Amino acid sequence: MIPVNEPWLTERDVELATEAVRAGWVSSAGPFVEAFETGWASYCGRKHGIAVTSGTAALQLAVRGLDLGPDDEVILPTFTIVSCALAVVYAGAKPVLVDIDPRTGTIDPAEAAARLTPKTRAIMPVHIYGHPVDMDPIHSLADANGLAVIEDSAEAHGAEYLTGRSEPGARWVRCGNLGTLSIFSFYANKMVTTGEGGMLLTDDDTLADRLRGLRNLCFGAEPARRFHHDDAGFNFRMTNLQAALGVAQLERIGEILSRKRSIAERYEDRLSGQPALILPVEKSWARPVCWVYAIRFEEDSGWTAEAFASALKAKGVESRPFFLGMHQQPMFQQRGLFAGESYPFSERWSLQGLYLPSGLALTGRQIDDVCVAVREILGTA
Ligand SMILES: *Cc1c(COP(=O)(O)O)cnc(C)c1O
Repeated sequence: MIPVNEPWLTERDVELATEAVRAGWVSSAGPFVEAFETGWASYCGRKHGIAVTSGTAALQLAVRGLDLGPDDEVILPTFTIVSCALAVVYAGAKPVLVDIDPRTGTIDPAEAAARLTPKTRAIMPVHIYGHPVDMDPIHSLADANGLAVIEDSAEAHGAEYLTGRSEPGARWVRCGNLGTLSIFSFYANKMVTTGEGGMLLTDDDTLADRLRGLRNLCFGAEPARRFHHDDAGFNFRMTNLQAALGVAQLERIGEILSRKRSIAERYEDRLSGQPALILPVEKSWARPVCWVYAIRFEEDSGWTAEAFASALKAKGVESRPFFLGMHQQPMFQQRGLFAGESYPFSERWSLQGLYLPSGLALTGRQIDDVCVAVREILGTA
């Protein structure tokens, strides 16, 4: 079986993780946590990095850190991972959904504007499968209405967005530097991985302090009494052992990005011209990172992701279907959310999209085998 994702770990990862163990620093105390926070924040051009246990925890902390709660609404795309909507629901706030742009799969800014109410407090754009959201209209909307922007960059390590493209001073900005608060995941299938892990980035000193407190059970600051808690915090601390992997991989981030680029180029070379397939797009204002090679089937091709995935599996190729919209999740429907809502583009993506093996450990030979399998199934081999 060719796995859909296999992480790429090197001797350097082993070396730094070993160093953490040898030094006895296996908890969240220890030098790698701060080194990873500082390094990642600086890579993204941000002032503060707050490392946590997962991307999901980072989203949860972001919502809490911004004091969102009952009576507040947060606008987000329906096509995303469940963690985004859960973070809002955990805080007692209300998720308000928006459909996606049918080409990039990212939140449609015009539709987001249409879902604004006097209760809207934040907007949560998600860079999908490595392609950046069109952020300028999101920022205009946020600025005009006093909204916080929670940028989910979990799938877009190293991706870039051209801000101000209609003006003279246009410039490329790295994803992770486009939100009031920006979050990352370092799960094993993400480009940089600590096994499990996540991070929040911000330039706001007060917010950073608050997030550090919330991450660590809101222990009172010294010299106040240690076991004096002034808020209901969480234990979302990343360990030094995990952070060691983050530090090692940040050293080779350029190589990680170029490996992903070659994977995507090889797929594109071998799969373009297939009438049934829609390959990933790249907008002129985006430098995507192709976190995964995400393909879709033409509406009239007759293929669903489910049928194609089982045909691939029969040929020894693992794949993963696209997200299922938040409005289609039984768990939210049972809570009385999103009743009767429908988002046609998201539904089409869910029905007819899947991603092919895309892990950093993938070889060129394996990609070729996957492409042969794809063409055989399509009957164009
Ligand atoms: C992976 C992912 C997350 C959640 O990260 P975990 O570390 O798995 O909790 C959040 N948002 C998006 C868009 C993701 O892809």
